[in-house]
Amino acid sequence: MGLNVKNKDKIAVVGAGFSGAVIANLLAKEGFYVDVLDSRDHIGGNCFTKRYEDSGVVEHVYGPHIFHTDNEDVWRFVTSLVKFRSYTNRVKSTVNGSVYSLPINLHTINQFFNKVLSPGEAREFVSNMGDQSIADPVTFEDQALKFVGKELYEAFFKGYTEKQWGVSPRELPASILKRLPVRFNYDDNYFSHRFQGMPEDGYTSIFEKLLGHENINVVLGRDFSREDRKKYKHVFYSGAIDAWFGFEYGDLGYRTLEFKREVYDFDFQGCAVMNYGDASVPFTRRAQHDYFSPWEEAKKHVVYTEYSRASARGDTPYYPIRLVEEKELLKKYVERASKEVGVTFVGRLGTYRYLDMDVTISEAMNVANQSIACWLEGRRPPSFFVDPLA
Ligand SMILES: Cc1cc2nc3c(=O)[nH]c(=O)nc-3n(C[C@H](O)[C@H](O)[C@H](O)COP(=O)(O)OP(=O)(O)OC[C@H]3O[C@@H](n4cnc5c(N)ncnc54)[C@H](O)[C@@H]3O)c2cc1C
Repeated sequence: MGLNVKNKDKIAVVGAGFSGAVIANLLAKEGFYVDVLDSRDHIGGNCFTKRYEDSGVVEHVYGPHIFHTDNEDVWRFVTSLVKFRSYTNRVKSTVNGSVYSLPINLHTINQFFNKVLSPGEAREFVSNMGDQSIADPVTFEDQALKFVGKELYEAFFKGYTEKQWGVSPRELPASILKRLPVRFNYDDNYFSHRFQGMPEDGYTSIFEKLLGHENINVVLGRDFSREDRKKYKHVFYSGAIDAWFGFEYGDLGYRTLEFKREVYDFDFQGCAVMNYGDASVPFTRRAQHDYFSPWEEAKKHVVYTEYSRASARGDTPYYPIRLVEEKELLKKYVERASKEVGVTFVGRLGTYRYLDMDVTISEAMNVANQSIACWLEGRRPPSFFVDPLA
């Protein structure tokens, strides 16, 4: 390579989730010496999995993670690291005393309306249910009413969305529901991506591979602050952008999750993920983690009941809210961060966006490759390689 990398040119990567681990891995392979620092006592960020002794099950500690992508480069990359098993996510929903199949498909429609419609008939039926008086939907509720009508909206979207986001769907933008969330056949595969799977030994095994390079030094339980940046040639920061600046302009809004973990001797719910659509049920969903490794024989069954609430400082931030108010605040932090020299903000927290794992990995690959190109041209990598406001 054309880069004259010296030991004193150390790079810091803050965060050992997919953003940090992929960047560290690609830089280490190019000869850089990289310190990966994470405030948690484990690698993997929110994708961390662990086999617990009392259950014997590989558990998704921060909530269920299913790998799905159309990006061949990303799929080739992850499957070159560890063995993936084929896995299809099939989600059920308990609503008003009945269990339905998600995403809304022909089975859901026929069961919900007690009918025996063909695909064509169902398409026409749902189209007639939609509120055609809404020409230009502004809110999530408008959009859902236009697409599927009042009954399906109230059963499958309204209560769940209220619980998940803590606001009425009337306050959320229509853009959240981009496409018609309905299938007119019996396909109940939750995702439509070409490549879907689960790492055979859990996600942590991927991070062990990524961070196992001899040029990488992993430091756990270490909170990296803005002051620490001076010790390094460059910092890739996958922590929260507002935290980097000491929350100077205020706190960006997140939803956090609380999990109630229970271990059973019997199969508790018979599936991996059961949503609860009714507003009167205080939790959003239950995940039974032994169903995430169907190739293993489970002796115990582990259920995580998931509660969503507003995140306060000190909580684990999960989902960025990104409503109008947050975007205004984000703009201030992005302007400030754009002037920060020697720091690149990456990942879901550094750019304050919800990112699936495949997008996170693809962006991290791009950050590492583009940064190397910058150094080769004698330039510093910029503060952002994506626009967090887009
Ligand atoms: C409940 C839930 C379910 C999900 N399910 C799926 C799914 O099924 N499929 C899918 O593709 N994606 C899923 N995702 C998305 C997935 O979790 C993200 O794509 C991924 O975690 C993003 O990786 P990251 O490295 O950017 O962030 P993170 O994984 O959050 O890693 C950031 C790391 O930085 C560390 N850190 C932060 N600040 C500091 C600091 N100052 N000093 C040191 N360390 C610091 C944190 O401790 C953390 O470990 C889900 C997300 C959630 C919330």
